[in-house]
Amino acid sequence: THTTAELRALDHAHYLHPFTDHKDLGSRGTRIIERAEGVYLWDSEGQKILDGMAGLWCVNIGYGRRELADAAYKQMLELPYYNSFFQCANPPAVKLAAAIAEIAPAHMNHVFFTGSGSESNDTVLRMVRRYWDLKGKPTRKTVIGRINGYHGSTVAGASLGGMAPMHEQGDLPIPGIVHIPQPYWYGEGGDMSEEEFGLWAARQLEEKIQQVGEENVAAFIAEPIQGAGGVIVPPSTYWPEIKRIVDKYQILLVVDEVICGFGRTGEWFGSQYYDLKPDLMPIAKGMTSGYLPMGGVIVGDRVARTMIDEGGEFFHGYTYSGHPVAAAVGLENLRILREEKIVEYVKQEAAPYLQSKIAELADHRLVGEVRGVGLLGALELVKNKATRVRFVEKGTAGTLCRDICVRNGLVMRAVGDTMIMSPPLVIRPSEIDELVNTIRQCLDQTAEQLGV
Ligand code: PLP
Repeated sequence: THTTAELRALDHAHYLHPFTDHKDLGSRGTRIIERAEGVYLWDSEGQKILDGMAGLWCVNIGYGRRELADAAYKQMLELPYYNSFFQCANPPAVKLAAAIAEIAPAHMNHVFFTGSGSESNDTVLRMVRRYWDLKGKPTRKTVIGRINGYHGSTVAGASLGGMAPMHEQGDLPIPGIVHIPQPYWYGEGGDMSEEEFGLWAARQLEEKIQQVGEENVAAFIAEPIQGAGGVIVPPSTYWPEIKRIVDKYQILLVVDEVICGFGRTGEWFGSQYYDLKPDLMPIAKGMTSGYLPMGGVIVGDRVARTMIDEGGEFFHGYTYSGHPVAAAVGLENLRILREEKIVEYVKQEAAPYLQSKIAELADHRLVGEVRGVGLLGALELVKNKATRVRFVEKGTAGTLCRDICVRNGLVMRAVGDTMIMSPPLVIRPSEIDELVNTIRQCLDQTAEQLGV
């Protein structure tokens, strides 16, 4: 076995990490997480940490569920791999497709499997263009996304997303992808009421459609609640207006459920929370609670019928599409979510409790706004609550608070000066108390260090 110092030295010598400034690691090195149970992580130095982010928004059923390990083990012995290309399938993938169709909105009955959320969104781009080709409208190629949206890191995923730092690296977005503003009322609403701003932000879609030309627009893609962008909960007027516009122009609606899917909002999908009728829903993360990599695109009847009845072969797929072991784990994950009524638990108990507890943090001198839906939450850290002025260097308060949280045994994520959370869905009320009490202490320490 290796000591922490040895692991850090090997890491430093050989490992290029995603989304990491290696210079920034300095002498500290990476934090090495060794094991986990329930909502808790243990690092290689023995520190116990409450995982307020469920990894990367994915460990929905919590850590350490043996049943998933058993399902993987059994499937690996039975059939560790076979492809789903060329008219082949395997039992767990078939059963998982059917099980997902059962929990999806009624008009969505097919699943295309991928290996991740990014691959799901690459699939989305190809599928929407394929759909319009089949409909005899090949000019409909442009996909409209949102500034600050996140749809993954592949070329298509990062292009559909609207993260400026990602676009700057590698000359993105690729042609045929454009963006509209995000429905971020607290940060960008100006003098408008929340309701007015929601309508304004939604109508940016109509303006963009007119600007690009209706005959050139294939689809609109958005997360029900922007996650990586800072848990941006849209005003209540936003989605109804988007629905009106999408219907009016008959463009495809792609709702990225990679974070919201599998119970995060207290419904199976964010689309059900907001009463949306998507044509495509990219999924991943909670699909296996992150125990194995897997993603997919849930396809509504409008697109599926066209692809099946008129499409012939779709020249698209991944070696690991419908991977039997990942699918077996996905099925077991779904069984646990259902039999233990975890989505109902989120809706009826965990979410109302978490939201009421974090709402109390609004009285803290650093907190300008508290918002959230289900088990997603955000705290906006500001210097001045009345003017909403942030700390001078964006991220100063956020990264400081995040580091203080970890030292106090809590993982939260910082998006600029916004602190966000997305704990495992199985978090108990006593653990929510611990999470919120720790945040309050950490906010105090952050304020002290910032001298406010
Ligand atoms: N879509 C959304 C909404 C996400 O939050 C993410 C990841 O955070 C992705 C897509 C990309 O998924 P993956 O990292 O599995 O490629």
